Amino acid sequence: MTLDVHIVPALQDNYVYLFRDPGSDAVVVVDPGDAAPVERALAERGWKLTHILNTHHHVDHIEGDAPLVAKYGAKLIAPRGNRGEIPGADQYVDDLERVTIGTLQFQTIAVPGHTRGHVAFFSERGEAVFAGDTLFALGCGRMFEGTPPQFWDSLSRLRALPASTRVYCGHEYTLSNARFALHVDPDNAALVKRAAEFEALREAGKPTIPSTIGDERATNPFLRADDPELQRRTGTADAVACFAALRKQKDSF
Ligand code: ZN
Ligand code: FE
Repeated sequence: MTLDVHIVPALQDNYVYLFRDPGSDAVVVVDPGDAAPVERALAERGWKLTHILNTHHHVDHIEGDAPLVAKYGAKLIAPRGNRGEIPGADQYVDDLERVTIGTLQFQTIAVPGHTRGHVAFFSERGEAVFAGDTLFALGCGRMFEGTPPQFWDSLSRLRALPASTRVYCGHEYTLSNARFALHVDPDNAALVKRAAEFEALREAGKPTIPSTIGDERATNPFLRADDPELQRRTGTADAVACFAALRKQKDSF
């Protein structure tokens, strides 16, 4: 059954995700960069938080952990590679581990590139992946701690998920990502159409999230680094080099 995910905007442009397991009393929040909006969203629904998932250690994803644990006694699940930055978690995960919350099942996927220990949480039955700052709608995270081969491999693994998988990412960066995507891939008709849809959503004050793996495959240049046309445009001959060129160009776009 498709996971019913609530979007909680936080800080400048972060998205925190909140959902409840219909088969138990479990209530889960992903990457609470700020506790206050999460507490309000819980109070509105009369829910009690039981679990927190962290995709990576950046403050805008974990600052709400401690106050939410203190207030609700929620269990914290965090990347093993971030033990130092996120001490005291109840469960540490890296690649291909199972996280069970009530009747919900998640599989972890190690996705280094933005940061070293970054993990994504994938629910096959729920048709959802929580991608943190690895994969954005029409973009990807900055490469702070990883290398191009690592980051490309991480994106390739996310790209291989079922096309219907909804992508819940850490930020509303979509319009700026769209401008860059159109710059490097101007003849992509699916991209042109999607960019216009995103413009309309933002004008209406709505989030552009979630996207889907299928849509990202067709329109996100960072998932298309093995496309011959993008390689021609970047003057590269393989996917890793093309990804590296795109990432570098985007950093100063
Ligand atoms: Zn980050
Ligand atoms: Fe972030």
